[in-house]
Amino acid sequence: MERYSRPAMADHSHRRELEPRPHRHHYDADMLSVEDALERILAHFSRLDAVDTPLLEACGRVLDEDLVATFDIPPLANSAMDGYAVRSADTSSASSERPRDLPVVGSVAAGELPDRPVPPGGAIRIMTGAPAPAGADAVVPFEDTDEMERRRAGAALDVIGIRTPAEPGDNIRPAGEDARAGEVVLKRGSLMRPAEIGVAASIGRKSVCAVRRPVVAIISTGDELLSPGEPHQAGKIYNSNAYSVAALVERFGGEPRVIGIARDTVKSLNEALDAGMRYDMIVTSAGVSKGDYDVVKDVLSERGSIALWSVRMRPAKPLAFGSLRGPDGRSVPHLGLPGNPVSAMVAFEQFGRPALRVMLGLPPVSRPSVRATLDDDIYNHDGRRVYARVTVYKARNGSYRARTTGNQSSGVLTSMVAANGLAICPDDVAMMSAGDEVTVEMIDWPETVF
Ligand code: AMP
Ligand code: MG
Repeated sequence: MERYSRPAMADHSHRRELEPRPHRHHYDADMLSVEDALERILAHFSRLDAVDTPLLEACGRVLDEDLVATFDIPPLANSAMDGYAVRSADTSSASSERPRDLPVVGSVAAGELPDRPVPPGGAIRIMTGAPAPAGADAVVPFEDTDEMERRRAGAALDVIGIRTPAEPGDNIRPAGEDARAGEVVLKRGSLMRPAEIGVAASIGRKSVCAVRRPVVAIISTGDELLSPGEPHQAGKIYNSNAYSVAALVERFGGEPRVIGIARDTVKSLNEALDAGMRYDMIVTSAGVSKGDYDVVKDVLSERGSIALWSVRMRPAKPLAFGSLRGPDGRSVPHLGLPGNPVSAMVAFEQFGRPALRVMLGLPPVSRPSVRATLDDDIYNHDGRRVYARVTVYKARNGSYRARTTGNQSSGVLTSMVAANGLAICPDDVAMMSAGDEVTVEMIDWPETVF
């Protein structure tokens, strides 16, 4: 499953060149593979610093300390059921026909401490989670007693009839069964998921030291763009990339900052980049195709290093990547996505997501993939790796099938709406036919709707 074997921590002494190797003759040979492009990109990222993080904000983040239990969990042996704490030996002759009657000498609720032991031949009424009284080695649940009948008959509960023999240890949870005092319950480097959040709370922590979320500036470029909310105008299109990419950033664990639209002028782009420089990464969209690139290239090369790549993939062939120098000397990595809405999303899946994962301290592994049988053909016209938008679904026999989501033009954003995966047609395969097995990188799980 682990496609990228790079360690999570970037080693800056081995930074790769940004520029593709020169002196290639054939245009295709100048194209970078997805893997090469990713490797060059990831060389510019490393794990961010860790900060004290309130527990409820820690989900999806990497723990940067060992969490140690300072006491046993649970702290005392306690009851797993509502029932009666007994000495199991006293119940050996119990049956439904001949319940064993035991005098009830007290009761103990969750959060209380028992005020007396269970005497031989006696019982203490006990609630789930309440500490087991001394002497008791088992709890008999209510349903194995005659408490209900006694209540119905209006009898006092000073005696209880036990109907089932108890074994030593029945329904008693030993102290420290979850964790022992001194034990490391979560190791440094753990990904905080809901279970880890719960464990941290169970040892009494309200915050943990966790790697902070990367903050990503998102800039759209283009004279044709309108912001959603502005009145519609002929000849203009709404800036959808900023929003789809911001949502991806959020989904991958980052914090998006939508800077807005830069017009195709040096001044406007510079202003937007100035606003983005204080963040961990800048993502732009559009302006990286051959005709458009000049403004972007001029501006970016003034501010650091920038390379325009052709990546051997469809969609999302044009990609820019660079490193911008901030006024404080800090350099900020810049990912320049193609403008076409599907290309921008697919490129962000392939390159933005792993970069965010590295900053989060997670291995930059690709999305989980499934093997599925194609319902439709996938064509590969020009030797690039095709990421076809597909809907993966479960056939009646339980196997996965994948059908393409219609028009695969990189401008057809609605083709992403129906998709839950990207089916991969390798660059050296000219066509995959209906019935072929294909690998699909899942962007959502077939059964998951949320
Ligand atoms: P470009 O890379 O500037 O040549 O843009 C390629 C295509 O993507 C053009 O059709 C643009 O109108 C479109 N496009 C560029 N930016 C955006 C954006 N932010 N939202 C939606 N479409 C865009
Ligand atoms: Mg443009």
